[in-house]
Amino acid sequence: MSDSMKTAEVLEGANSMLAFDVERVRADFPILHQEIYGQPLVYLDNGASAQCPRAVIDSMSEVYETYYANVHRGVHYLSQRSTDAFEGAREKVARFINAASADEIVFARGTTEAINLVADSFGRAFLEPGDEVIISHMEHHSNIVPWQLLRDRAGIVLKVIPIDDSGNLVMEAYRELLGPRTKLVAITHVANSIGTIVPVKEVARLAHAVGAKVLIDGAQAVPHLQVDVQDLGVDFYAFSSHKLYGPTGIGVLWGRFDLLNALPPYQGGGDMIQRVTLEKSEFKAAPHRFEAGTPAIVEAVGLGVAIDYVTALGLDNIAAHEHGILAYATAKLSAVEGLEIVGTAEDKAAIVSFTMLGAHPHDIGTILDRTGVAVRAGHHCAEPTMDRFGVDATARASFGLYNTREEVDQLVEGLMLVKEFFG
Ligand code: PMP
Repeated sequence: MSDSMKTAEVLEGANSMLAFDVERVRADFPILHQEIYGQPLVYLDNGASAQCPRAVIDSMSEVYETYYANVHRGVHYLSQRSTDAFEGAREKVARFINAASADEIVFARGTTEAINLVADSFGRAFLEPGDEVIISHMEHHSNIVPWQLLRDRAGIVLKVIPIDDSGNLVMEAYRELLGPRTKLVAITHVANSIGTIVPVKEVARLAHAVGAKVLIDGAQAVPHLQVDVQDLGVDFYAFSSHKLYGPTGIGVLWGRFDLLNALPPYQGGGDMIQRVTLEKSEFKAAPHRFEAGTPAIVEAVGLGVAIDYVTALGLDNIAAHEHGILAYATAKLSAVEGLEIVGTAEDKAAIVSFTMLGAHPHDIGTILDRTGVAVRAGHHCAEPTMDRFGVDATARASFGLYNTREEVDQLVEGLMLVKEFFG
């Protein structure tokens, strides 16, 4: 290797370290700097909700302190300012996922509401009894139950793509499920319970080949991967703010504009209408047609700032950092006797689910809590996935951009206590 190549390599390494200094990042998150039961907090429940950086918290306080007012309807200064901030957040979301326009961004309460919106509106507009919707065996309940409700209401047929023993989607089985009656494939981008990253681009390509539309549950993907909805070639994409370092109470449904605009309203009320008489109503175009009532204004502003935050750090830098943590955690946890990792797909986001011989996941979670380590224990709203692996629950460590290797070590130390207790 020439000297100049070596120098370039060193500089590149230094640049990526400069771009991602985890201690500097941690300083942005006030909640992380506290002790739980006398131990430094190790927050490993990011898959449930990630913490907010100071910038997000401050932006929301600023709204309440300086320009809080309802949007769209007011002619006064504060209302115009809050409308600008709210619509500005919509534009940030559009840029973040590379939507063709901000008109493709519907604000919903979260991923759950976004999926229910599609199940209800797309279901009413486009699905007939006997039409088929395909999901996978590793969905969150929020991408199972709405389709079961639609099945019971509208007579659609629900089909399920199997997963293998590692948690990979079985693509050959998927190809066989697709057919002329397939109208929608609704699938997760990253499985919340086992971390598998689904090859959604290929899933979409195959679905489109039979004329089906594709909805992606991106709740666990947007915090870890750079998502480009146009490149993925999907039709709908849903995610929640609170897993992306933003507040609760707001999420996003992205849809291709023509498709979105062809869907009937989901809920009726103020702000979504063009004109109302006592006989009938005319509706606004997408996205406003789907936003009945006062939206989560302050939360939208917070989400916009969360997007600014992760964008400034760089999703690629975040992914590289988390990938290092995932590899380290996987190696460390695999070395713990009696511990079994559930979900070992080749392509995984920073989520490790596991069981331990002799200890129920709730016991693991409770003991870890006493050592300051927050993990989730349970079925993770993915009971069919648990059934697939023959367990009723797992303990789950889900990592975020502020986690460190030292925290993984603290997790492993806590697990040693679990072993002492139950071993
Ligand atoms: N899908 C996945 C993959 C999730 O992880 C979650 C949250 N655990 C949801 C959907 C539901 O998100 P929310 O509760 O924010 O609507």
